[in-house]
Amino acid sequence: TGILYIVATPIGNLNDITLRAIEVLKQVDVIAAEDTRHSKKLLDHYGIDTRLMAVHDHNEQDRIEVLMQFLQDGKSVALISDAGTPLISDPGFRIVRAMQKVGLGVVSIPGPCAAVAALSIAGLPTDRFLFVGFLPPKQQARRSALEKVLTESATLVFYESPKRIADCVADVIEVMGAERVISVAKEITKAFETVKTGAAAEVLDWLLEDDHHRRGEFVLLVQGAETEAPGDTVVEPSALRAVQLANEYMP
Ligand code: SAM
Repeated sequence: TGILYIVATPIGNLNDITLRAIEVLKQVDVIAAEDTRHSKKLLDHYGIDTRLMAVHDHNEQDRIEVLMQFLQDGKSVALISDAGTPLISDPGFRIVRAMQKVGLGVVSIPGPCAAVAALSIAGLPTDRFLFVGFLPPKQQARRSALEKVLTESATLVFYESPKRIADCVADVIEVMGAERVISVAKEITKAFETVKTGAAAEVLDWLLEDDHHRRGEFVLLVQGAETEAPGDTVVEPSALRAVQLANEYMP
């Protein structure tokens, strides 16, 4: 049987593709792409003329059978999305699950992912993070979604559209407070790559001060909530000083 390769492609800079990805995309019998016209540009750039097949959110279920037949006939398939790693806020999950269920091989060809790239430059803790993906577009639903992760201590990672980035940060302030440290990482790997980290209120000011600051592709990161270990008591600095003074003056 053939193998299904899950291949990461660039998130902006066309040079961000691995040697192995190019090799696999050249060798497979078919490339399943989200938007074949979009992917053609990347493939042309690398002189890859492998047959393309459209697989997107709306036909993923129907394509499963076709792809399964391909693999069972010994043909190999590469799945790519418009940008970055397939399945990460992109189609493919149902395909991978279906192939694994019948024992077909699925192999990862790793590469760029906007969430991981943003984490690597935001300057927020990375030991634990929660990828939340896209928030709901409407304010009320977005605020409830933010409330659900209000006390999460891991760094939160969201994808957001340029249309909504400022409103979204305003909702973060509303739900989590103006002091919560956040980061916006935009246009990663592109000419205007920018990362802005600070108190949510400062980052919102920055977004609002210039239309250019709100253009492009965004990853929004929110530092996790401060945690108190169970049984820990918060000691006010003034109380601490009082104890120190008492100790100094006590016989
Ligand atoms: N599968 C992709 C990945 O691995 O990152 C994500 C696909 S999702 C449909 C697209 C979203 O990813 C954009 O709306 C944006 O939030 C984020 N994104 C993609 N490329 C980006 C870039 N170069 N800089 C910042 N964010 C980016």
